[in-house]
Amino acid sequence: ATPAATMVGTTIGAQNGVLFKGGDVLERAKDVDTVVFDKTGTLTRGEMELTDVVAVGEVPDGGAVAERGDAATDDSATADGSTTTAEDEVLRLAASAERGSEHPLARAIVDGAEARGLALADPEAFENVPGHGVRATVEGDEVLVGNRKLLRDAGVDPAPAAETMERLEREGKTAMLVARIPAGADDGELLGVVADADTVKPSAKDAVSQLRDRGVDVMMITGDNERTARAVAERVGIDPENVRAGVLPEDKSDAVEAIQRDGRRAMMVGDGVNDAPALAVAYVGTAIGSGTDVAIEAADVTLMRDDPLDVVKAIRVSDATLQKIK
Ligand code: ADP
Ligand code: MG
Repeated sequence: ATPAATMVGTTIGAQNGVLFKGGDVLERAKDVDTVVFDKTGTLTRGEMELTDVVAVGEVPDGGAVAERGDAATDDSATADGSTTTAEDEVLRLAASAERGSEHPLARAIVDGAEARGLALADPEAFENVPGHGVRATVEGDEVLVGNRKLLRDAGVDPAPAAETMERLEREGKTAMLVARIPAGADDGELLGVVADADTVKPSAKDAVSQLRDRGVDVMMITGDNERTARAVAERVGIDPENVRAGVLPEDKSDAVEAIQRDGRRAMMVGDGVNDAPALAVAYVGTAIGSGTDVAIEAADVTLMRDDPLDVVKAIRVSDATLQKIK
């Protein structure tokens, strides 16, 4: 493109909240044939809320937090928290362990516990296990909160919670196992499950369908498990075979490279620190506005708003700018 066309395109982009880092990005964007969205914080709001607490061995479908508050007949929940149920204990221990974590999943668990008036303990020997969960010492015992692998690695069998986990995941929630290894013991015990849910951004579905209308393939990549990932994908119209789930933070860039191996030109769209390496290897890396500085720095395009539809705008501006000068 001529310098003049580049300037026009860059300006039109900026007026629409789409910042291109230079003229060559503006030219590349029109050639993108695949858009890879990060899930959390990109397609979804990234604002988790605690939705369920289930103690193992309890009624399988009990413990929905949302249902408890308005169920006047539920004698296990009292406003002043004076009755300690098995669920409250699961949540209290999980939240105490998660106090050491900044992860959105952890914040939602802590906030949910505080909202229920539970008195949390101070965790000691806190350890963050990236992509898997947390381990911390709470009141002398080790408490684990995280996915199946976190528990298996600690020698705790997640099987008794399998049905509960699958049910919550099919609902699109992120379900996390809670286990305790008492001080001095070799064996841990599975205590229960807590679940957080995120909401899909209102325009995510439109963005996916507009991209597909342009002939662009749409994919999703996430550290979350397959079942939750597919439930979210279905809500926004992404094909199940285009979902890459359970991708560890350090493997996201490899996953993008694998997608590009057969000559695809992928635009990766992400918001998190996790996403920066993937943004850097993508043909076009796009950071979504509310994202972290690290992501914005690694990206070629920054979307100033939080709106997935601006991904379509970025491609359209590139297309329009370069067609005009032909
Ligand atoms: P995402 O790519 O969606 O941001 P992460 O890679 O951070 O997800 O985490 C992947 C999975 O690891 C989560 O879905 C959850 O099961 C588990 N996990 C990560 N951090 C925590 C935590 N602080 N507490 C409980 N589970 C966690
Ligand atoms: Mg994320």
